[in-house]
Amino acid sequence: MKIIAVHAYVVLTKTKVPFVWRRGLPGSDPVTQQTWLRLVTDEGIEGWSCAMRGPIAFDLIARRLKPWLLGKDPLMKELLWHELWEIDRIEELPMYMMGVVDAALWDITAKAAKLPLYQLLGGYRDTIEAYASTVTYRTTEEFLDVADQCLARGFRAIKLHAWGDARKDAALCQALRKHVGPDIALMYDGSAGFDPYESLYLGRALEEAGYLWYEEPMREFSINAYRRLCEQLDIPVLAAETSDGCHYNVADFIAQGAADMVRTSFFYKGGITGALRVAHLADSFQLSAEVHGMGVENTHLCLAIRNNHYYETLIRGNPIFVDANIGKDCHVRVPAAPGLGHDINLKALEKAAVAKL
Ligand SMILES: [Mg+2]
Repeated sequence: MKIIAVHAYVVLTKTKVPFVWRRGLPGSDPVTQQTWLRLVTDEGIEGWSCAMRGPIAFDLIARRLKPWLLGKDPLMKELLWHELWEIDRIEELPMYMMGVVDAALWDITAKAAKLPLYQLLGGYRDTIEAYASTVTYRTTEEFLDVADQCLARGFRAIKLHAWGDARKDAALCQALRKHVGPDIALMYDGSAGFDPYESLYLGRALEEAGYLWYEEPMREFSINAYRRLCEQLDIPVLAAETSDGCHYNVADFIAQGAADMVRTSFFYKGGITGALRVAHLADSFQLSAEVHGMGVENTHLCLAIRNNHYYETLIRGNPIFVDANIGKDCHVRVPAAPGLGHDINLKALEKAAVAKL
């Protein structure tokens, strides 16, 4: 099989319910710019994938990736994945860009095998529970109100992205535990908002409140800082979400005792190929590899990776907005169609595109 054409389409969509981020820092753009990547093969099978950072992805596809991909065999994913690291050495690709190319290649492979991707990857489950991953709300009262709405919608697990103030966030986490009782799974995501001293203070509060995991309190630059934190706390520290270098880097987090659970994702860990490597690496140490982020690519990973326990879905707005892929039972599934299952209307996409290749 050969790739005979590489297309890219930039589409703009008005952001319906914005992602609100701590202390007014930039969250969502008012208009979301996505770039669809379309790989056409000589056997009539097409591979699709979507990048969130539209203009950056478009530039990289046009300038670096299209000339490289043309004529390549898309089934040789392992070779192409390693060549992407070579391109990264020159270009310093954004981490998600490897994932976009790799996922489109897996889409082709799964379509050729006539299987939904997660079954090709191994297939562990057909459906998985979603947890409600909140944006940052203004007050404790609003967070508790949103938690009530999540519970009423059927969620049994809630993760907070709070203000990035260790004392206020600790008090919020304790108030939420009191509010929902002991049977709801609660998680906290620091999104790298803290230094080691604040991280320890907050971690102790989460421990007391019986949280399931304590995610990314610090930037993932210092493995030593994470190792010290893991030694000081009993609550599982979930790390290596955004650290560069895929499993090569996650291996050091694990070997140094700098993570009790690790993150994996299509987005930040080199696509499907890299995300699986991280998951299997963690599994060999009997650690969880929890899938970060949303979308159909990550859903397939959630269904294929045994040592992952939830699908993350972002809860925005008040009243809350819940994505359409979350079932009434707060579980997610994927289309039965072969491949990733992206539902593309090519004519409409070509018409809507503000830039195309
Ligand atoms: Mg996170």
